[in-house]
Amino acid sequence: MKEQLALLEQLQKIDNEIDIHEKDLERLPMEVQEIARSLVLIRRDVSELKEKLELAENSLKKREQDLVVEQEKIKRSERRLLGIKNTKEFNALSREIKLGKKVAGEIEESVLAFMNEAEGLRKVLDRKESEYHELEETLVKKKSEAETIGSKAKKLLSKLNSQKDKITVSIEQDYLKRYITVKKARGSAIAEMINGICTACHMAIPPQLNIRVLKQEELIICPNCHRILYVRPENIPEYNKLDA
Ligand SMILES: [Zn+2]
Repeated sequence: MKEQLALLEQLQKIDNEIDIHEKDLERLPMEVQEIARSLVLIRRDVSELKEKLELAENSLKKREQDLVVEQEKIKRSERRLLGIKNTKEFNALSREIKLGKKVAGEIEESVLAFMNEAEGLRKVLDRKESEYHELEETLVKKKSEAETIGSKAKKLLSKLNSQKDKITVSIEQDYLKRYITVKKARGSAIAEMINGICTACHMAIPPQLNIRVLKQEELIICPNCHRILYVRPENIPEYNKLDA
């Protein structure tokens, strides 16, 4: 029985390592995918911002041209005004100039507004684009990390699995079955008992059972978490050692 427990303990150590590498193999590609997904989203933001910026810049150009046209019209009218002798005509043209200046003022305001909008958009776009490039670099790094760690993990896993196979053949079928069932349910199947306490679930093992664990003559299960209990030789009191 002692031997069997030792084998089960070894099995658990190997299984723990296997679990770590398998999690890496699962986790790393998922992390890569997540970064790739974020990149797609940022790229979409960037192209939307570019469209908005183009619209704002086009509107700005259009309004600037409108302004030039309006200002030329005003200048022409002002020149014409100098040659007019008729008071009625003079007043009419003066009103026209005044109105033209008002319109020009409004156009100037919208020119400024489009300038501000374009400037704001350019800033956001710059930020998004540098965010995109940073994330692109992160993706490259993450990919190579995933490859390096992944291939290392695969190598280790094949080594660990062959070690595991060697141990498993020496473990009795019933014990192995219980080990597998409990591991599936609890994540681990073997628990060390120290000072009468199951170190996995921290429950105090009843004294009668405690003694049986110390004797290591049969497979004892923690009544609380159902893990197989084992005890290290250094934790077995002297009188029990003599007994066994
Ligand atoms: Zn327990």
